[in-house]
Amino acid sequence: MTPARLHADADAGLWSDTAPEPPATPPIRGAHDSDIAVIGAGYTGLSAALHAAAAGANVTVLEAAAPGHGGSGRNVGLVNAGLWLMPDALEARLGPDRGGRLLAALGDGPALVWDIIARHRIDCEATANGTLHCAPDAAGLRALRARTAQWHRRGAPVVMLDAGETAARIGATAFRGALLDRRAGTVQPLGYARGLARAAIAAGAKVHGHSPVLSLRRDRDRWELATPQGSLRAARVIVATNTYSAGPCADLRRAQSVLPYFNIATKPLPAPQRATILPGAEGCWDTHKILTSFRLDAAGRLILGSVGALGPLDRAAHEAWARRRLAGLFPALADLAFEHAWYGRIGTTPDALPRFNRHGTGMWSISGYNGRGIAPGTVFGRMLAQLALDRIAPDAIPLPLIDAPPRPDPLRHLREPVWRAGSAALHLAGARRG
Ligand SMILES: Cc1cc2nc3c(=O)[nH]c(=O)nc-3n(C[C@H](O)[C@H](O)[C@H](O)COP(=O)(O)OP(=O)(O)OC[C@H]3O[C@@H](n4cnc5c(N)ncnc54)[C@H](O)[C@@H]3O)c2cc1C
Repeated sequence: MTPARLHADADAGLWSDTAPEPPATPPIRGAHDSDIAVIGAGYTGLSAALHAAAAGANVTVLEAAAPGHGGSGRNVGLVNAGLWLMPDALEARLGPDRGGRLLAALGDGPALVWDIIARHRIDCEATANGTLHCAPDAAGLRALRARTAQWHRRGAPVVMLDAGETAARIGATAFRGALLDRRAGTVQPLGYARGLARAAIAAGAKVHGHSPVLSLRRDRDRWELATPQGSLRAARVIVATNTYSAGPCADLRRAQSVLPYFNIATKPLPAPQRATILPGAEGCWDTHKILTSFRLDAAGRLILGSVGALGPLDRAAHEAWARRRLAGLFPALADLAFEHAWYGRIGTTPDALPRFNRHGTGMWSISGYNGRGIAPGTVFGRMLAQLALDRIAPDAIPLPLIDAPPRPDPLRHLREPVWRAGSAALHLAGARRG
């Protein structure tokens, strides 16, 4: 029952084992100049670097560890359209103009991801077969019907499936219906991050791993970024460190509340189950607050995820839950061994909207994706590149501009321990009941 390899928060588990080799990203050494400095090599920073370099700018990315070290290398791999918020709620919060522009940009987000993957031949198990948002109960069904209707009013190609259609696609009878979003799909998340890094380098960007930015200083008309072995001067800085922010960018992480999320992957499914469980390889998750996500990878492993960390105190509860949940959903997999387990930090904001900050002259960040970062990170990275290139003004970015650096949210100290302990208690209770 115990996963053969349990990775700490520092590792991306299965994805590290099956992603293509990373491109060479040697540390920066000595003093350098660039038009644009990007701090952080996840989807946001790498999309920014790719688009700015492709437009002819001199771009340098400084990454503390390696491309995909943060959320971008350890997530579930669901390439979603839009945010967690219902489309109507999003527009109510941001107003019809800005909200409408944000919905349009993020609704088209998966298309941008598929296009980048195709154009740069990124090897990342891209599967544009849609996602299934699954309703385990009547409340979930009502929420999904409302979401479907709201997307339909905006012309999005989503459909509501009944219980029978859902069971046929999933190979399980646990759900009363599902929202099929044909825009969406799955990737091997670390493969996509490494592919973006490779594409950015091919477009002319310099990407330096093991180059944590230790200090940021304004010197006349430029920013000076110092790393242990080098320094970089740039007129424009894109801070793309998000929930894994450290050093001088750490307030970007402190402005968010971290929701831990783990994934546990089985061995590849035997052939008979492979034929009936997710034959269309859609990525799935349910409407519960402490949700379950599940999907297959290219080798046919089932990857089950939920809220929680795999630390010494909570790991056993989550593993026991995963075993019960797997058997409950797919009885034929009850005895299939787990191979990998890992977890990461999802950055949340109180209103579930990302944050757009101007840290100072020529320095911006977008962060706080609330668990929806693959397509949004790619979209926002491109917008930040256009902003840094002076091709758009800040108000072209469909998020309210906070004209100040991020401010720590003191309530995170209350939320984070409750979420972590609450998810473990719930999974423990579920496992005992089950
Ligand atoms: C377990 C999990 C499951 C998720 N599932 C999904 C999903 O299915 N679909 C989806 O769309 N989203 C999902 N997300 C969210 C998504 O992964 C993130 O929103 C997204 O990866 C954020 O990308 P980013 O580039 O903004 O930040 P990150 O990928 O976190 O990159 C930030 C980078 O900045 C670097 N850094 C930090 N400080 C410094 C410094 N001082 N100097 C230099 N570099 C620095 C870090 O090392 C890191 O590599 C999930 C997240 C997690 C953790």
